[in-house]
Amino acid sequence: TFTLGPKIRNWDQERKTWFGQNPEYPNYIKGKPRILLLTGSPPKPCDNPIGDHYLLKSIKNKIDYCRLHNIEIVYNLAHLDKELAGYWAKLPMIRRLMLSHPEIEWIWWMDSDAFFTDMVFELPMSKYDDYNLILHGYPDLLFEQKSWISVNTGSFLFRNCQWSLDLLDVWAPMGPKGPIREEAGKILTANLKGRPAFEADDQSALIYLLLSQKEHWMDKVFLENSFYLHGYWVGLVDRYEEMIEKYHPGLGDERWPFVTHFVGCKPCGSYGDYPVERCLSSMERAFNFADNQVLKLYGFRHRGLLSPKIKRIRNETVTPLEFVNQFDIRRHPSGST
Ligand code: UDP
Ligand code: MN
Repeated sequence: TFTLGPKIRNWDQERKTWFGQNPEYPNYIKGKPRILLLTGSPPKPCDNPIGDHYLLKSIKNKIDYCRLHNIEIVYNLAHLDKELAGYWAKLPMIRRLMLSHPEIEWIWWMDSDAFFTDMVFELPMSKYDDYNLILHGYPDLLFEQKSWISVNTGSFLFRNCQWSLDLLDVWAPMGPKGPIREEAGKILTANLKGRPAFEADDQSALIYLLLSQKEHWMDKVFLENSFYLHGYWVGLVDRYEEMIEKYHPGLGDERWPFVTHFVGCKPCGSYGDYPVERCLSSMERAFNFADNQVLKLYGFRHRGLLSPKIKRIRNETVTPLEFVNQFDIRRHPSGST
């Protein structure tokens, strides 16, 4: 059967030994775990060229967030395992990064069609001290309804540890392209509520695994829903103006969503579940909503949420540090300004 590579059995001990030999590469810095954000897109140009422009906006958005919060970032364009092409490509890459960067404590996968829309909010990492996998999701939808959208794999975090390698090993076998993926898709559709008939996808496969081996895995899985680690775009993008009026960045929940994820849009592919025009204008709004939070320090904002053009929001000054003190997101982790 399919494997991601030779079975690794003693990663926690190997990594511990490595830390002893490499004290200059700690996995925690000033009490905070080292995080690496991984994202990526297919190796070839998008079917629709405008899709490439939105991939650019999406990586710009992620670079901004990661720079502001001291998170490293990796962009993957390759299929490390040709059997795991498409949405399954994240699995071998997550494993590869864990093994190649022992100093990283958490690998954060984020889809190319997910945007940070709260540039101030920070993950409450101390809450996850006893967990190894952080997923956006709802326990009732998962365990009672067995819904195929009970958790989302567009934005999630894995701790760099043996447990995660083991989970990747049991998650991957439904992934190989062709008859295996096709047949696995039938099992998933038969078992998961609401799932249309199509080949096995990574999200459904993970849900199926967590349902069928609940006792084995769930005590280390944190189902987060107190903020939008993943936020379904429909119902969020049309409310940005209202959010601006009533709230402020730093909240991360329905008042100011941390992540807006364009599930069902596929701007890089040829077809999705929604009209491409609606997807693109909604992505434009999400991008500009976030970009305004970045531009504020520099004294600019977009003319409107649909406009790539910007305008000045304050006059130039001969004492620029006042604005640094006032508007630098890194100094206001609580998001109070
Ligand atoms: N992806 C990738 N390589 C591929 C195809 C997809 O890295 O060849 C990534 C990309 O970031 C994408 C995610 O996998 O957002 C999920 O894939 P899916 O086909 O579900 O695309 P989405 O609907 O999220 O755009
Ligand atoms: Mn997605």
